[in-house]
Amino acid sequence: MMLAENEYIGIGIKNNIYSKKVQKEITEILVDKFELMKKQTLYRPDKKIYIYILDKTVQNQIFLVDSSIYCSIDHINSEDFLYYLVSLYFDIKEPWKAIGLCGYINESLIDNSKLADYYLNADNFDLLGLFGGRFLHEWNTKEEFEIAFMTAYSYTKYLINDNDILDFLYDDMDNRQEWLTSIGVNKELDESNEIMDITCYAKDNEYPLIVHTNDSSYYFKPIENYFTTAEQMEEFIRLAKDFREYLQNYLRKNAAISFSKLNVDVSYRYYMRTGLSLCYVDRKSNEINLAFGIYGLTHEIVHEMIPYKRDERWIDEGLAEYLSCVVYPNNEKRKWYYDTICQFDKNDDIYKFYIEHGGSLNSISDFNMELAIDAYCYAKLRNQSSSWEQEHFNSPLISDLYHIDNKNKSRGDELTYFQASSFVNYLVKKYTIDTVIDFCNSTISYEDYFGYSYIQLKQDWIAEIGK
Ligand SMILES: [Zn+2]
Repeated sequence: MMLAENEYIGIGIKNNIYSKKVQKEITEILVDKFELMKKQTLYRPDKKIYIYILDKTVQNQIFLVDSSIYCSIDHINSEDFLYYLVSLYFDIKEPWKAIGLCGYINESLIDNSKLADYYLNADNFDLLGLFGGRFLHEWNTKEEFEIAFMTAYSYTKYLINDNDILDFLYDDMDNRQEWLTSIGVNKELDESNEIMDITCYAKDNEYPLIVHTNDSSYYFKPIENYFTTAEQMEEFIRLAKDFREYLQNYLRKNAAISFSKLNVDVSYRYYMRTGLSLCYVDRKSNEINLAFGIYGLTHEIVHEMIPYKRDERWIDEGLAEYLSCVVYPNNEKRKWYYDTICQFDKNDDIYKFYIEHGGSLNSISDFNMELAIDAYCYAKLRNQSSSWEQEHFNSPLISDLYHIDNKNKSRGDELTYFQASSFVNYLVKKYTIDTVIDFCNSTISYEDYFGYSYIQLKQDWIAEIGK
């Protein structure tokens, strides 16, 4: 099938799909593109690049395999094609660099005053982190998408003109502060929100952005109503890292025996899984699967990190809720609980319990998650009718979610997630977190372990929150 080849490019066109004339035109376009890249950057790669043109590709996508690009004739003049070509030609893994070079090669128009306007008025410099998700149009507003591209163009041009192409390609220099000054923005660059340890980006048919970091991999795709912006992707990675680090330190300090049994250096893979309405972990393969984006992330990390051997689910779920909602609640969880309680009538059981036990509703940061969860439990225990459920919130029983009907093996699974969390909180206060985790990791009976039956412990917990 090979049609044309010289020392730096091979072009293959599937037999009999295009006339000789069209084949010649395609070859000329591609050779011109190579000449343009060479002329603009004075750079020649060591390896030869092959381009294969098929009548159509899977899902109409362009594919890279080693040193080869597989595409259709429709792709040849697209920005997407140039992006792949540049990535291969310069051996680039970071989206912003490939996009910046496309702009440099095409001499794309750059409006530095528009960029200056944006960065002078923006609340933060998060976009200037040049995170890969900023360059996917479905994850950004039109303005942010344009600014991200133009920033990549302008910053790349600044770096190449100030140094040279080899420095740009191989040096991890960070001259963003100087670049900002050069376009007239005299503000200090704040890098505190940046994700520093990204090792490479990728994508596949299902996930438009895969981010590999030093300790984990993230498989991102949009989830309607839950997970749709590049900012959320960055927030997701930050939260996963922060929570893992926090949890490790917390357990090291408060649960030394349990901590010594954990394998904390595991590399996790986080997947956005639509189509399955559940979040779950696969402890064998270290996969964390999330159907609601950020919501549920920290809960699942607890499951992943803490081993569990018991038949009944409640204490595993209670521990995950307790550690992710009471010990280290993220903003999204705190806001959800806060907003819900604020909406209730002042005579409502949940509202009254929260206020009467000293809870504050002045601000989300003052909000007491431990008390809020006890308030939900207390109110639900007092109001068992289904109309109350519908009016307040539908919190399913653990046994329903897991389809458990073996009552002997599932003591505790009649609880909701709120109740399991409150019950675990009670056990932690009475026995320590180390004891509770150790119990999770055993198959010993309640009587032998705590000296009380499950029923007795449950009664004591209900009496305690009812005080
Ligand atoms: Zn769970």
